[in-house]
Amino acid sequence: MTAHPLPVASPWFEDQQVDDGLSVLTEPHVHSFLRANIWHLRGANRDLVIDAGLGVASLKLGVPHLFERDPILVVTHAHLDHMGGAHEFDTCYMHTAEAAWTPAAGTLRGEALTSVLGLRSGAYARPLPNLLVDAAPTPGFDPDAYELRAPAALLPIDDGHVIDLGGRTLTALHLPGHSPGSIALYEPDTGALFSGDTVYDLRDGEQLLDGITGANVDDYVHSLTRLADLPVSVVYPGHGHPFGRKRLLQLIHAYVNARTRNGRP
Ligand SMILES: [Zn+2]
Repeated sequence: MTAHPLPVASPWFEDQQVDDGLSVLTEPHVHSFLRANIWHLRGANRDLVIDAGLGVASLKLGVPHLFERDPILVVTHAHLDHMGGAHEFDTCYMHTAEAAWTPAAGTLRGEALTSVLGLRSGAYARPLPNLLVDAAPTPGFDPDAYELRAPAALLPIDDGHVIDLGGRTLTALHLPGHSPGSIALYEPDTGALFSGDTVYDLRDGEQLLDGITGANVDDYVHSLTRLADLPVSVVYPGHGHPFGRKRLLQLIHAYVNARTRNGRP
């Protein structure tokens, strides 16, 4: 337990309309390192949720409209900030290479997480604080009781898998690098890419996380090179704000140049 009880934040989730049939949920009281985007897409027949947040608060109770039409969930990868809430969904897709995920990866303590992920010093711009939430989702919340819960039923998803929501379809891309089974979803009709942690906008001093347990630099270079060839118009990333093609290519070129010219980190 923490020495002082955390203030209770209600509502826990922030819900923002991004476009027609697209909204994003975030958890503002989660430290920015772990604050991931939960994307919600509405099709004519089905809804799709991409990533499920940290799982400290119930999405079903906090955002009931998300579940109105029994959504399909795709988890881009098995890190806690993306799959924490996956156990609340009946249909959950994840790449089989993410199976190495273990419940030990569930912690809200900065030091423990640094060690679980194998985060090297300098890999992230700032040291992680002791506690990775600054509020509680419910009274009596104990951050040390947090654990990752396995999804009820896990369905495999791999490169080329098509998800048809009615009137809009998305294709899965297997993009190993950040993790062995990282998945992105691409909507060919609009050029929208839901990239997970494969690529997101970086602030000064930040870099894409390729030095953590399960990451692979050669795979990362290959996956980003592949993305550069795709006619992506807008990126809806696993963390932070959406960005356009120009920024995507900047991020890709910066990474590929650093990792192929200057040797390994
Ligand atoms: Zn993440």
